[in-house]
Amino acid sequence: PAQMAAQGEKVVRTLVEAGHQAYWVGGCVRDELMGREVHDMDITTSAMPQQVTELFPGSIPTGIQHGTITVVIEGIPFEVTTFRTEGEYEDHRRPTEVHFVTDVAEDLRRRDFTMNAIAIGLDGQPVDPFNGREDIQQRLIRCVGEAQERFDEDGLRMVRCVRFASVFQFRIALNTWKGLLHQRDKLGFIAAERIRTELEKMMKGPAPLRGLELLRRSRLISYARIQTSWERIAAADVSSLPLLGIDHRWMLLLFAMGLEPDEADQLLREWTFSNRQRERWVAVLRWEKELQRLVLNAEPGFDPGHAANRKAWIGMVLRFGQQTAEDWLTVRELKPEPLSHEQKQSSGRSEAGETENGFNWREWTLLGWRWNREIRLFGLKELAVGGSDLLAELQLKGGPWLGQLMQHLLLETASGDLQNSREELIEEARRVISRNEA
Ligand code: ATP
Ligand code: MG
Repeated sequence: PAQMAAQGEKVVRTLVEAGHQAYWVGGCVRDELMGREVHDMDITTSAMPQQVTELFPGSIPTGIQHGTITVVIEGIPFEVTTFRTEGEYEDHRRPTEVHFVTDVAEDLRRRDFTMNAIAIGLDGQPVDPFNGREDIQQRLIRCVGEAQERFDEDGLRMVRCVRFASVFQFRIALNTWKGLLHQRDKLGFIAAERIRTELEKMMKGPAPLRGLELLRRSRLISYARIQTSWERIAAADVSSLPLLGIDHRWMLLLFAMGLEPDEADQLLREWTFSNRQRERWVAVLRWEKELQRLVLNAEPGFDPGHAANRKAWIGMVLRFGQQTAEDWLTVRELKPEPLSHEQKQSSGRSEAGETENGFNWREWTLLGWRWNREIRLFGLKELAVGGSDLLAELQLKGGPWLGQLMQHLLLETASGDLQNSREELIEEARRVISRNEA
């Protein structure tokens, strides 16, 4: 951060010494005024893009047609944008053309919210024509100009509005909120990916429930062009969300929505979440479905700690991986409810966390954590005997049965029912083979 401040100052100073105007602007000024950590610096200048490029050799013309050049100094990137105004907007999402101007106040006018429309120069004097500092003081999100117009120009601003209100725990000025309600259908013009990025910032922040509540009240997300299962989001009980880390927050939301794994997979694809996120989160839903199959069919009054359950659990850990097991435990611990949407309706539960057949999820999560700690090994590589080794020892030819046999040996050793020694494993293999031949 100190490095960034020093290098940022160099960029501004270079521009000013070449006879141009230059200011810090946007998020970095806002965050600085709020006493928050600054994560990147945007600079706005009267210099034309061509002049910026000449002053900073090796800069990258990231958005040169909109006047944006990325200047990299000592490995730190700075976005330098020429003062500009925006022409007409197309499709409620982007200006058809931009005009370069010479007055910083003109540039500030195109920005979304008053707190984001403050510029600061080398002298430290803020240029703040829309009283952004006062709104920050009052903890208010307010559009620059007419809210209704600004949201009509660019529908993404509405999600940004909710995101900022959530992350900063600010209120939304009445006119801004009214404008949002009036224009919310314009969100249908915005690409899922851009909306998702804002939602991620919102969910990551200190008060995700505030953002969800604003989305609930505005019904904003139901206007996104893609399928959202909006009613389910609105109905979801996610009160324990703030207690969880970011990935687990999303998992909890998916659980609370009562989605089938395939539905969740589809939804996350449409919202363009990364493969890593989608696969990890959906795996937890699949885990639960599998567990449900193993456990909810059990007889009333059966003992959850039964050895067969322990082994079934360990078998699942071997198949799904330990992360999925831990993800499930982490989320379910905070949401110890009947397993799925359907069950919630069909099986009236007697008390929190208890299903009709007397199964208690709190008990189950306690057992799960314990069983996880008891697992001796996690993969075939850790077995004292390998597949080809075993074939040679038994003087047999390979086949599909070998994989099954190895999985069996893995489960037996992982659960501690078999010693992980060459002799024991070979003996067990012989037993299984002769049992199968019989
Ligand atoms: P963050 O802390 O998330 O980076 P930010 O305010 O810096 O927040 P950016 O997307 O980095 O957000 O945008 C930088 C600045 O550009 C904003 O502060 C705002 O002045 C302006 N801006 C960004 N998006 C819009 C938009 N959709 N409409 C108008 N102005 C915008
Ligand atoms: Mg920014």
